[in-house]
Amino acid sequence: PRLIDDEEGGVLFYSTSPLSSSSSGYGFASVEKQRQRLPVYKYRTAILYLVETHATAIIVGETGSGKTTQIPQFLKEAGWAEGGRIIACTQPRRLAVQSVASRVAEEMGVKLGEEVGYTIRFEDVTNTDLTKIKFLTDGVLLREMMDDPLLSKYSVIMVDEAHERSLSTDILLGLLKKIQRRRPELRLIISSATIEAKKISSFFSPSKRRQALLTEDHGPNAEPAILSVEGRGFNVEIFYVEDPVPDYLQAAVSTVLSIHDQEAMGDILVFLTGQDDIDAAVQLLSEESRNGQNQGLIILPLYSGLPRAEQDLVFSPTPRGKRKVVVSTNIAETSLTLEVIRWQKKGIVYVVDSGFSKQRFYNPITDIESLIVAPISKASARQRAGRAGRVRPGKCYRLYTEEYFLKEMSAEGIPEIQRSNLVSSVIQLKALGIDNILGFDWLASPSSEAMIRALEVLYSLGVLDSDAKLTSPDGFQVAEIPLDPMISKTILASNQYGCSEEVITIAALLSMQSIWISARGTEKELDEVKLRFAAAEKKALEVREQLRRIAQRLGIVLKSCEGDIQVVRKAIAAGFFANACRLEPYSYNGMYKTVRTSQEVYVHPSSVLFRVNPKWVIYNSLVSTDRQYMRNVISIDPSWLREAAPHFYQHQQPNPIAH
Ligand code: ADP
Ligand code: MG
Repeated sequence: PRLIDDEEGGVLFYSTSPLSSSSSGYGFASVEKQRQRLPVYKYRTAILYLVETHATAIIVGETGSGKTTQIPQFLKEAGWAEGGRIIACTQPRRLAVQSVASRVAEEMGVKLGEEVGYTIRFEDVTNTDLTKIKFLTDGVLLREMMDDPLLSKYSVIMVDEAHERSLSTDILLGLLKKIQRRRPELRLIISSATIEAKKISSFFSPSKRRQALLTEDHGPNAEPAILSVEGRGFNVEIFYVEDPVPDYLQAAVSTVLSIHDQEAMGDILVFLTGQDDIDAAVQLLSEESRNGQNQGLIILPLYSGLPRAEQDLVFSPTPRGKRKVVVSTNIAETSLTLEVIRWQKKGIVYVVDSGFSKQRFYNPITDIESLIVAPISKASARQRAGRAGRVRPGKCYRLYTEEYFLKEMSAEGIPEIQRSNLVSSVIQLKALGIDNILGFDWLASPSSEAMIRALEVLYSLGVLDSDAKLTSPDGFQVAEIPLDPMISKTILASNQYGCSEEVITIAALLSMQSIWISARGTEKELDEVKLRFAAAEKKALEVREQLRRIAQRLGIVLKSCEGDIQVVRKAIAAGFFANACRLEPYSYNGMYKTVRTSQEVYVHPSSVLFRVNPKWVIYNSLVSTDRQYMRNVISIDPSWLREAAPHFYQHQQPNPIAH
């Protein structure tokens, strides 16, 4: 191995001469053989060396090179989990946490939940005495900081998929930078599938003055090191449409069918945007595959929130003579590995890229956060295409024009922190004692409008006082509950109204991605629907149990209101008063306006209050399609609003923080 100095900023690059590739016969290779074939394997010594000598190592490598599954094992083998210390690896997505944890447990031949475990919100599959490698969402690690601000039980923290720049990843990186100053022995690994690395590297680079101080002791080098793992991706031929397509869903379906018709065997990965269009595409493709020439297709959806049994289908090998079609959200872009049996040349060979993904956009002026189908960036488009070249040369069909790709697509996506509602983030930072949020060391600064909005909401909820400090006990308690602060506040209020059991059940249901599934279709599909519902129901029960425990810890008395629904509605008003809406007088089409910002909104057609249109309502969330629709709506008495938030509803300018 050879270390090369990068002229630009003393950043280290590492390069090695490649090992001669072992011959790959057919059949099943031992787990050890499989591991050795991964591109990161030949960087094992280099990675361990960098972790040993540097406080922060940034590792860039394409999807499938073995970063997530191998690096934690290397660290463990090198002794980083000895003496009761734990190696953590964070992921932005829950689904990825579960999937990689079970893969690593399998590779190590251990039972999941013992030496290798995972934690996601409301699900902790670890063992305090045994767990040495722990996979968790970045959000869960942030929560752990509330009990253990320096994350002292971890020897190495690997922040994975950093290129995604999820809200929690960005906040985590800012906090880890702080922790590092207090715990020089802590090692960070930041791994990324793209070149975001430079930005992150300069973020972790200490100032000159600090650097001078640091060289006096003998700790690890504070300057981050960057290592690029060269992948073994095959060539991917890119195809563009000649003219823009009017309907990407239809275009995706017909592209899949013509690949199946004309191209050699190999699985297809289709990138759509969310459960709705994925289910629609799966439906259309299933209909096609039932009639004649399209037999041999196995069509599978993939999105977060998919029940475990259905996820497993996606990861299982394709039977001989069949072609798998995985219709996915951008979850398959980088965080999951789909191809399995590389040396049998099986796996994804064709990618169909719609050019869109569902992205969260928050407008601090209207205070509305919506999931919007929006164009992806060039960086995403490249990642998507790359998924086709993992097992042999592949093809990527882009459902947009080359001209659009070259001239209009933005180079990189906008970090989530700049397009999100910051209420939950602000409360977490406050709970961690970060008082000056505007001055926090952000990797990318959120807008001050969004920040002010968040402070305003938290102030009106009584979570922050007029000095923008967490109130006691409400503020600390709200921060303690791992839910949206509005729901947490509702749970606190339910204590006074004597309806905590009902409110906790509601909170558990709201935390489910989706429990209601429309039941239409064949007998078989209906059976699947029932299974999914049963799975969601069981999960909701578990979540409710956990919330009951948290509530008890906070001194909330578990009590049912025995059918007095009015008090439940009052408790909800106490948390969600900011989402109050009033029916427009003389409205013929059920138009409401939000009290706070006079936005036009409507009751969602799936609501029991659709067409009932009570004069005053409160919603839980908004979905925007052709209009802004309120989902999960209750009717209220406007006097409850003043009761719940007098300062919010009595004055024009309710909040001293906003000035
Ligand atoms: P990276 O993090 O660099 O994208 P991973 O460590 O996730 O790579 O995956 C490395 C390899 O491990 C994959 O190419 C695949 O062969 C194997 N692998 C990963 N996850 C699974 C899984 N759930 N089932 C089977 N094989 C897997
Ligand atoms: Mg990975």
